Amino acid sequence: MTRKKIACIAIGGNALTSRVALKGLATGIALLSRKGQGIVITHGNGPQVGELALVERKSLSVLTAETAAEIGLEIAASLEDAGVSGKKVAVVITRVIADPSDREFRDPSKPIGRFYSGKEAAGLRRNGRAVRKLLKGYRIVVPSPKPLGVLELDEINALLSDGYIVIAGGGGGSAVSRRGSHLSYLDAVLDKDLTSSLLAVQLRADRLVILTDVDGAYLDFGRESERRIGKVDAAAMERYVREGQFERGSMLPKVEACLSFVRKRRKSAAIGSLGAAQEVLELRNCTVVTP
Ligand code: ADP
Ligand code: MG
Repeated sequence: MTRKKIACIAIGGNALTSRVALKGLATGIALLSRKGQGIVITHGNGPQVGELALVERKSLSVLTAETAAEIGLEIAASLEDAGVSGKKVAVVITRVIADPSDREFRDPSKPIGRFYSGKEAAGLRRNGRAVRKLLKGYRIVVPSPKPLGVLELDEINALLSDGYIVIAGGGGGSAVSRRGSHLSYLDAVLDKDLTSSLLAVQLRADRLVILTDVDGAYLDFGRESERRIGKVDAAAMERYVREGQFERGSMLPKVEACLSFVRKRRKSAAIGSLGAAQEVLELRNCTVVTP
């Protein structure tokens, strides 16, 4: 039997504001699935986990699992709306190994929650929150250590082989560290782009597609000379990274996720708009990184 082709599709937490936003993607996924393509969907949770963290004093790993359950059900429902049987969709709450001595715990980079004004940011800092100025305003930032391994890998693989569309790695997965046989939660939010890339490599996926609220990675982003990168090979994309074209915590992890996937799998990866998901799945109207 020939192995089923697998696509890993990552949806941005910021783009994921309503089920309407998911409609086009769900239609595209239903189509691919009917053609026999294996599909793993991952998603972010930055805005959602940030809201929860303001009111709940639990580890960010536990809060991530809560958001992954909620957003996972939402994505499953949109797939059902697009004609996929609910019996063929599995939501897997995923744990991901990270290093508790990762430098992110000293210098956090992951923006969560909403944007704040400069004045609000000063107030948050006085209350002990780490806040960073981004291109579009201020946001709380939390540690986002590098994802090192997906605990539920075998489970996800088995579900894919059984023909399930799998929703996994939600919010980047819940960060855990291993000491001997003991697992402990880390107070961190993993970057879903990096987790998606790791998962895609570990599942030996054939494509990585990252859907967000912009239609690709840009050069000179935010300036008059800004232009979208179309098709680009990994070596050229690495040069753009070195030039500092991509913002840390937002576009940079997407580009790094694509590069890591393309280098390890020798297959293409794409970054594009959730609103144009069907085109992006066909590698049109987006940024495509090739080997
Ligand atoms: P997601 O929730 O999908 O992960 P992010 O906000 O983390 O979304 O990342 C997408 C954002 O990255 C865009 O909305 C844009 O503001 C920002 N960005 C920073 N640098 C770039 C760039 N070079 N090209 C395109 N977008 C960029
Ligand atoms: Mg992001």
